[in-house]
Amino acid sequence: MLPFKLVYHSRYNLDLGAHVFPATKYRLVRDGLVAKGIADPADILTPQPAGDEDVLRVHTPEYVEKLKRGALTASEQMRLELPYSPQIVEAFWLAAGGSILAARRALQDGFGVNIGGGFHHAFPGHGEGFCMLNDVAIAARCMQAERASLRVMVVDADVHQGNGTAYIFADDSGVFTFSIHQERNYPLPKPPSDLDINLDDATGDDDYLRALARGLDESFARFSPGLLFYLAGADPYREDQLGGLRLTLPGLRRRDDLVFAEARRRGVPVAVTLAGGYARNTEDTVRIHMNTVLAARDCCDQHLRESSAG
Ligand SMILES: [Zn+2]
Repeated sequence: MLPFKLVYHSRYNLDLGAHVFPATKYRLVRDGLVAKGIADPADILTPQPAGDEDVLRVHTPEYVEKLKRGALTASEQMRLELPYSPQIVEAFWLAAGGSILAARRALQDGFGVNIGGGFHHAFPGHGEGFCMLNDVAIAARCMQAERASLRVMVVDADVHQGNGTAYIFADDSGVFTFSIHQERNYPLPKPPSDLDINLDDATGDDDYLRALARGLDESFARFSPGLLFYLAGADPYREDQLGGLRLTLPGLRRRDDLVFAEARRRGVPVAVTLAGGYARNTEDTVRIHMNTVLAARDCCDQHLRESSAG
């Protein structure tokens, strides 16, 4: 049994054929966690699709309407880089519902993990880069609608900058966005987050972890959140097909440990989403995502040990 809930829906998974986006990774992560005895089926909650009123806190009515009617133009579909289908629309509504549920559980249990989500390239009026709806932005606004004073921090460690999230919250003083990413990579341009750390090509574990630690220190010095969303992208991995950083599997695990420890030390609940991951070998992507769940579990265990020792 895990000390927090995982959120997963079988219809997160899509058959995209030979697409670079391994849209069946969600099932592989879920099944791997259960097969290895890390998670019990009772640890896993099934989300409802996000309500349209939640989606409309972030996205424009025109865009939502187009998605529902299947009325995206050819250029809009090209920008999204996904083939349109009603199943895809449903998968994104479910992913947003999953991030809402993970956030709600995080506020209750300290952690909540959506085995999905992290679609940070979606803007209010358009989708791009495999991202149709910005589930983290939707979940953040949804939690703030339930708790008016809730301040939210987004820590985005996907190899690609969180352009949609940065844009959505640019003028929102209740949400702090921090993105650490490869500079010379999609997206271009990069609308400014509250804090951006642009990394050089081929940055490895030690330099990455130093930069991340500095970024977290600065973020927490500038902003005190009541909830943190962590986008645990697997694509800073050195074998990633769409990334140019050189993190190893243990380095990515240390990244997760660091984010969780810094949040936990300050008593900030963490809602996790998976975001990207395009390793040549999908097993590596799956392993990186499973390690994120292990890092969250170990962080909880450590916290428990410390509180019982104290
Ligand atoms: Zn990415």
